[in-house]
Amino acid sequence: MTRTVYVNGQYLPEKDAKISIFDRGFLMADGVYEVTSVLGGKLIDFNGHFARLERSLRELDIKRQISEDDLLAIHRKLIIINEVNEGMIYLQITRGAPEDRDFVFPDPQTTPQTIVLFTQSKPGLSNNPVAKKGLKVISIEDMRWGRRDIKTVQLLYPSMGKMMAKKVGADDAWMVQEGSVTEGTSNNAYIVKNGQIITRALSSEILSGITRSAVLRFAEEAQMEVVERNFTIEEAQQADEAFITSASMFVMPVVEIDQQAVGQGTPGPVATRLREIYLEESILKAI
Ligand code: PMP
Repeated sequence: MTRTVYVNGQYLPEKDAKISIFDRGFLMADGVYEVTSVLGGKLIDFNGHFARLERSLRELDIKRQISEDDLLAIHRKLIIINEVNEGMIYLQITRGAPEDRDFVFPDPQTTPQTIVLFTQSKPGLSNNPVAKKGLKVISIEDMRWGRRDIKTVQLLYPSMGKMMAKKVGADDAWMVQEGSVTEGTSNNAYIVKNGQIITRALSSEILSGITRSAVLRFAEEAQMEVVERNFTIEEAQQADEAFITSASMFVMPVVEIDQQAVGQGTPGPVATRLREIYLEESILKAI
């Protein structure tokens, strides 16, 4: 089945979907994105993703040209057309394609935004066997820009980080700034010590994960103690457990950091329980 994608008001087979070479997303990474998971054909935390999209656009002074209802309708239509049961929907909005390359922002009256959405079908996403094994991560210096709270399409360094991990047989990288872990290449990072769930507090140095906020809320509801503070790689290696969260990984245990086992070197009970709670609760609320 060929995938049908959405581009600027049209639903097209993926091979027919085109954007201009002058698109500022392509030339300048001048755009933002969201990835929303689909489970049982329904969207997980659409409202959270929409709220973050709104914020990312505002921070970049891009005035949204499409309504929340229309975006939701497009998400739903793509799920149906592409028969997605489990997977993700990728959404990208850029400042559009002016007539020429220019650092100055184009006039939004004459340069409409570019809006693209596509599905990524991943059967078995909720039952990912990796959750039973856990991930191996390496640490790398965080060399990204200073506005990591904005979900821009500027993903070169995270992509390089992922490749650095792959090259040494690991799954992912945790980034470190001034001695403390910021986050993973495409996920938020956590450790568990003496029953406390520890994760870096929100700031412009990390992305405010939609999964992060749901998981911290569920943890508190389950009477688990959550502490938002910085931690080092050494502290993480000495922790009882470690894990990450993201829209497509949900809660995923981390069992090795820089070739050192965390805890028993197997997925821990807190991460495993949080994964179960997250999946149960978010499927119930899916729309
Ligand atoms: N941090 C970064 C850098 C990310 O790219 C992502 C995934 N987009 C996350 C955290 C997790 O965010 P979410 O839970 O909303 O997927």
